[in-house]
Amino acid sequence: MEKIQNYIGGQLVVPLSGNYLDNYNPAEGKVYSLIPDSDESDVKNAIEAAKKAFPEWSSLSITERGKILNKVADLIDRDHEKLALAESNDNGKPLKLAKSVDIPRASANMRFYATAIQHFASEAHIPDDQYINYTTRKPVGVAGCISPWNLPLYLFTWKIAPALAAGNTVVAKPSEITPMTAYLFSKLCIEAGMPAGVLNIVHGLGSKAGQAIIEHPDVPLISFTGGTETGKRIAATAAPMFKKLSLELGGKNPNIVFADCDFEKVLATSVMSSFANQGQICLCGSRIFVERPIYDRFVKEFVEKVKKLNVGDPLEEGSKMGAVVSKSHMKKVLSYIELAKEEGGTVETGGNQIKLDGRCAEGYFITPTVITGLNHTCRTNQEEIFGPVVTIMPFDSEEEVIGFANSTAYGLAATIWTENLKRAHRVADAVKSGVIWVNCWLVRDLRTPFGGMKQSGVGREGGWEALRFFTEPKNICINT
Ligand code: NAD
Repeated sequence: MEKIQNYIGGQLVVPLSGNYLDNYNPAEGKVYSLIPDSDESDVKNAIEAAKKAFPEWSSLSITERGKILNKVADLIDRDHEKLALAESNDNGKPLKLAKSVDIPRASANMRFYATAIQHFASEAHIPDDQYINYTTRKPVGVAGCISPWNLPLYLFTWKIAPALAAGNTVVAKPSEITPMTAYLFSKLCIEAGMPAGVLNIVHGLGSKAGQAIIEHPDVPLISFTGGTETGKRIAATAAPMFKKLSLELGGKNPNIVFADCDFEKVLATSVMSSFANQGQICLCGSRIFVERPIYDRFVKEFVEKVKKLNVGDPLEEGSKMGAVVSKSHMKKVLSYIELAKEEGGTVETGGNQIKLDGRCAEGYFITPTVITGLNHTCRTNQEEIFGPVVTIMPFDSEEEVIGFANSTAYGLAATIWTENLKRAHRVADAVKSGVIWVNCWLVRDLRTPFGGMKQSGVGREGGWEALRFFTEPKNICINT
């Protein structure tokens, strides 16, 4: 069985303890590889390697750093098929999705920051003839980058690309649930000639290897994407050490449908925004609010479309949905469906685990689930489920739906459907989310600020925001 290895100081190495964890293929429900159960001694070695590499990497020209990141991007493109298959096997997502979204976006992240850094300028402020202020932005040191399982290589590269481009060295920990593509990525870094210690990848549990990265005094900045509860723990550990923190956390995103929308477009997009990647995208719209005059029609036609979504073997071309990521996650999602029923919800379609035939007989598959009849305040509509479950609720006025949309602790993303441009602007302005889509969903321009308000996070990724996070500004004021 394949043993994943850590990537430390430019080498692939075994964990010092010699201990490994099981890595599951969720579509088969079977262990198919082993992952290092790294502890603080592995993390310590990774941080030492990153500290050692920092002086040279941070003083390398931005062109040279960019060349290496671009080389890695080229190698990701070369291995597109292999990486997509690995991502699908590790995560349960349809191979087609990994091929069209995850892997292309991973190379795009590397390329974007390889070039963005060449255009990253710092400001000068000249108040009068006597004084000139100019601001330098220098890399900070060893960055800790911790990523989740839902878009494994996509979100892993979304952090390390700006960190490295800005001149930091990195100790990264991918999710222990989906470690495979980060491991394959470490091999590509070696092939691309990434200098030893510039990027270090330590595999293992969040509570052990992850926590050791957060606690270490020589990691002055942490970029984390994951759950809100984990984010709280990380913030509590890092705050007394005054570490720089970027936290991209959970969501409970509203999908707001006004009666004057382009109905067919809303239907088609809402099926995707509800169930893409089995609903395991932090940007999925899990609460659909529909204006009363079109509510009944929307529920009927949406449910008809959802019933046609084919849940199947992720490797088969016709599968629109694959497996959820793990057995424990499947149980969590199913328990929320039970909760929704206890809270008085009606399951319009789905609501159960599905048993497939053949190699997927033991896999973790859930039917896409649509629930109506719930109030916006119940737990089902307040807590993040992060699976193939959406609720639909009617509303009567703009004011009312803004209140519904803003009623959760989260504020990551929102979608608004209306052909009335003035209303689109008004509602977009009033909804408390860091990312708003009007008459579209998941359209991403890597230059835009990305992240959430309230308990969906602190700080923003993307474009200059990430490069600002990964650098320390210093203002120099000269009396001329
Ligand atoms: P998680 O919080 O359980 O784990 C995320 C990462 O943190 C993993 O690598 C894990 O090992 C690590 N970790 C866990 N405990 C840690 C600790 N004490 N110290 C350091 N690291 C620790 O999240 P998950 O279940 O992997 O991912 C799902 C969550 O991620 C959902 O809530 C989803 O909304 C969120 N998410 C947010 C965004 C965003 O951009 N806002 C994007 C994707 C996913």
